[in-house]
Amino acid sequence: MNDLSNAVLRERDLAVLWHPCTQMKDHEWLPMIPIRRGRGVWLEDFDGNWYLDAISSWWVNLFGHANPGINGHIREQLESLEHVILAGFTHEPVVELAERLVELTPSGLERCFFADNGSAAVEVALKMSFHYWRNTGQPAKTRFVALENSYHGETLGALAVGDVPLYKETYEPLLMEIMTAPSPDCYEREPGMSWEEHSRLRFEAMDRLLAEHADTVAAVIVEPLVQCAGGMRMYHPVYLSLLRDACDRYGVHLIADEIAVGFGRTGTLFACEQAGITPDFLCLSKGLTGGYLPLSVVLTGNALYEAFYDDYERLTAFLHSHSYTGNALGCAAALGTLQQFGQRDVIGDNRQLAARMAAATEGLKDHPHVAEIRQTGMILAMELVRDHNTREPFPWQERRGLAAYQHALTEGVLLRPLGNVLYFMPPYVITPGEIDRLARVAARSIDAAVAESA
Ligand code: PMP
Repeated sequence: MNDLSNAVLRERDLAVLWHPCTQMKDHEWLPMIPIRRGRGVWLEDFDGNWYLDAISSWWVNLFGHANPGINGHIREQLESLEHVILAGFTHEPVVELAERLVELTPSGLERCFFADNGSAAVEVALKMSFHYWRNTGQPAKTRFVALENSYHGETLGALAVGDVPLYKETYEPLLMEIMTAPSPDCYEREPGMSWEEHSRLRFEAMDRLLAEHADTVAAVIVEPLVQCAGGMRMYHPVYLSLLRDACDRYGVHLIADEIAVGFGRTGTLFACEQAGITPDFLCLSKGLTGGYLPLSVVLTGNALYEAFYDDYERLTAFLHSHSYTGNALGCAAALGTLQQFGQRDVIGDNRQLAARMAAATEGLKDHPHVAEIRQTGMILAMELVRDHNTREPFPWQERRGLAAYQHALTEGVLLRPLGNVLYFMPPYVITPGEIDRLARVAARSIDAAVAESA
C-alpha cells in the first residue's frame, strides 16, 4: 500500500473506472489527481502535493475535510446502527435531524421526506407537487415551469427541469416538456441597471406565463439567488418575493432547490431567508452532511402532507422510496454538521471571509479578460471573456477555463471552472491568508489561460 504513487493509481483507475462529467479521452493528456487524504481545506495526493479545495469538492464540504467533530458523530453512530429501512422503521438520528431541520428552515416547513442525493430530492419534489394536485381534484395541473440556465440534477426528471444545454440537449428526446421563463441572471442586465431593477424586469415574463398557464402548472422550480451549474449567475432576492406572491395568486407550488446554495453559501443559512419567503418545497443536499455522505431531504408543510394522508385503499399515499433513504450514518454526519454551526457564529464569521474574498479579487475587476466579478455571500465568480469591454466570450472550444484549472493545480489550488467562469466556493474553515493565496493563484491562472489570446 505504501508504495502507491499518483502514477500507479492513475493507471489502475484508467483501466477500470468511468468518471463523472468527464470526456475520458482528456485523460490521455490531463492527469487526474489521486487523493490520499484531506485535512481542513487541503487535499494531499499520493506524491505528497497539497491542493487547496476552493470548490468544496463539488460544493459539498462546509467545515473542512476530516473534520474531527463530524468524524466523531459518524464514528459514534457506526457503533450502534449503520442503516435501517426507513419504511415501517425509524431511528434516532433521522428523527433528531428532521426536528432540527424543521426548526432551522423558514417557518411553515414542517415535514421532512428523505432521499439520498440532490437529483433524487428534485424528483421527489416534482412528483409530490404533481401528486398533490391529483389528490386534491386538480389533475390538469401537471406541468412545470423552470428558469433559463437553471440546473437541478441529472436524472431524467431533474434534467428536464434544467436548462444547461451541455448536459440536457443530448437527452432531449427522453425528457418531459416543461415551460421556461427568462432567467433573472444579472450578468445580462443593461449597463446602469441595478440587480434589483433587472430582476424585477425579468419577473414580468414569469408573471405572464403563470397568468396564462396556471390551470395546467403544478409548480415553478428555481435555484434561489445563484444559478450555480449555469455559471454562478446571480440575481436579486426581490425575484423570489415576487415569485412567491405570484405562486400564491395563481395557485402554483414553489419549489426552492437549495441543494447547492443552502447551509450558508449565500450569506444566510438558507437563500430564501433573504427574500423572507417560505417555498412549498425546499430541497436540500450537498452541505447537509458537511460533504461527508450522500443524503438529501425535501421539506414541505403540513397542509400539503395532509393531502396524502388517508385510508390506504384510497391510494393517495406517496409511494416513493430509495434504499438508502434517511441513512443513519448520513443523518449522524448531518447532525455533526449542524453542531458545527452551533459552536460559533458561522454565518457572521463568513461575512468576514466573504469581504476578504471581495477585497482579494478587487485587482481583477478591470482585467482585460474578466467581464465581471460577482458575489453572493461565500460564492464569488469571475467571468472570463475575450474582451472586458464588449464581453465577447471566448469560443468554448478553446477551453480557457480548463487551462486555468491546469495552471491552478501546478500552484496547489483546486479550482474547477464552469466553462469560462472561475469561482470560489470554499469550505467555511478557510483562513483569510488562504483566501489571499487563492486570489493570487486565480489571477495567475487567468493570465495563463488567456495567454494565447493576442
Ligand atoms: N440541484 C442543484 C442546484 C445542484 O447544484 C445539484 C448538483 N450540482 C443538484 C440539484 C443535483 O444534486 P446531485 O448531484 O446530488 O444529484
